[in-house]
Amino acid sequence: ISNVATISLLNVPHVIHIGYQLMDHIASDLTENVNNVSNYVIITDTRLAPLYLNKLFESIQAHLKPNQRLLTRILPCGEQTKCRNAKASIEDFLLSEKCTRDTCLIALGGGVIGDLVGFVAATFMRGVPFVQIPTTLLAMVDSSIGGKTAIDTAHGKNLIGSFWQPRRIYMNLSVLETLPKREVSNGMAEIIKTFAISSESDFVKLENGKTQIESALLGFSNRHELYAGKAMLMNIVHTCAAFKADIVTRDEKENDIRGLLNFGHSYGHAYEARLSPEWLHGECISLGLIHEAELSHYLGHCSLAVITRLEQCLQLYELPVKFDENSKKKLELERVMDIMKVDKKNKGAQKRIVLLKDIGSTLENKPTNVADAAIKHVLQK
Ligand code: NAD
Ligand code: ZN
Repeated sequence: ISNVATISLLNVPHVIHIGYQLMDHIASDLTENVNNVSNYVIITDTRLAPLYLNKLFESIQAHLKPNQRLLTRILPCGEQTKCRNAKASIEDFLLSEKCTRDTCLIALGGGVIGDLVGFVAATFMRGVPFVQIPTTLLAMVDSSIGGKTAIDTAHGKNLIGSFWQPRRIYMNLSVLETLPKREVSNGMAEIIKTFAISSESDFVKLENGKTQIESALLGFSNRHELYAGKAMLMNIVHTCAAFKADIVTRDEKENDIRGLLNFGHSYGHAYEARLSPEWLHGECISLGLIHEAELSHYLGHCSLAVITRLEQCLQLYELPVKFDENSKKKLELERVMDIMKVDKKNKGAQKRIVLLKDIGSTLENKPTNVADAAIKHVLQK
């Protein structure tokens, strides 16, 4: 599969590029389209650098004009890197290299590198162009799209940041072959979320396509199956990315419809605050999706079958659907309710949660006001 598919974003054509073996394509498209710069700076982490940095570096290097420089910076991997210190260290590096406003930052990595580099780009010299090369499934279908950039503080995740749109988002599906299994499931949670709110027929593809998707990610099985699996993976990532791109185009700053992407995240974020780092984001969202479907059912908006289907699909992709006793203890109901109070979606004390009508459709085109008693009822079950 050598084709490159593109998706427009915020009315700019060809922002998102999706395909396999894209390194050379990335180098030529980047140097052709983000070209009035003196410096390109690739920023990545210690896990990705030995895997992909050389190839990307050499590909871009081959396309540089004589007056252009290509620099690299490698940061420790992990969520701790999304912090003020790391932001300052990149800025100091750029300043010491005499980089000015004609610098393009290249984020090669998962959501951690993407969010951090995006935020550096948003404030360095009052804003420089940047591109995303997401390397996790989660970053491809979710964090690289939409322009939300941020760092964490001791008070919580993503509390300092800004909206800053990347000039290009290059999804090179080939890099997913080295992604650990648990990280694949982490990304699947967001894909399941997306199809649960957007399309029953796409949800069915997930229900039926596990073997094919797996063969594409792990690179085994015979050539015919591999080809079908790769086409299926590309189709799923493309559909998911296109859905998010469309929502972001209609509501960039999340006033209403972009709030739908938070399905599973009202409970999910609160669980994450209590259980991270032992539990990954997608694992907390998995429980959040089930509990928000249960809330929808409790309020009379969807059938029991909807919950069951969601649960089975999450299980199929090896996501948790129950808390173990230890995590349950750690959660503490009152603390969860307390954390849910500071959800960015809330309007004052009014909690707003995305409710499901069926697999593939939501009750409203935005999150719905829900009373505390109902939220608590589901938590206590
Ligand atoms: P991550 O960036 O920490 O990556 C997970 C791990 O996988 C890292 O250790 C990384 O080095 C490694 N890795 C990445 N790609 C690899 C590959 N191809 N092969 C082998 N190893 C690879 O985690 P993530 O799940 O991508 O991102 C999580 C972050 O994204 C969180 O900070 C979250 O807040 C943020 N996020 C942001 C948005 C947004 O809209 N901006 C949306 C969702 C999540
Ligand atoms: Zn999420």
